[in-house]
Amino acid sequence: MSANYRYWCGECHYRTPWLTESQGAERQIDHYAQRHPGVPPGGRVEVRQADSGYGCLALVGGLFLLLVLLSTCSSQARSAPLPASPPTAVTTDPAHATALAGGEHAVPHPSRGASPGRP
Ligand SMILES: [Zn+2]
Repeated sequence: MSANYRYWCGECHYRTPWLTESQGAERQIDHYAQRHPGVPPGGRVEVRQADSGYGCLALVGGLFLLLVLLSTCSSQARSAPLPASPPTAVTTDPAHATALAGGEHAVPHPSRGASPGRP
């Protein structure tokens, strides 16, 4: 899965392909057994910076989450104040007020009927 290890021979210019840590170590030991018998495996291990890909993924994921959050926020904000909201608000406000007034007019009726309803 994570073939990010490349083992370099310390005795010659041999290097293993990109392998997992254990696979690379095996290859290097094999190489030493074939090419440098009696020499303890040395050299160095090159580690590919592929882990930064995960960081990149996390960053992209975070950005995506942020975008989703922003889009939900902006859609909510967009639904509340429409571009033509100031004029409509002005026109709907009196209508709302009259509706409320009409409601207030209707309110006394039941209360008046309720008080003399009980003898
Ligand atoms: Zn070698």
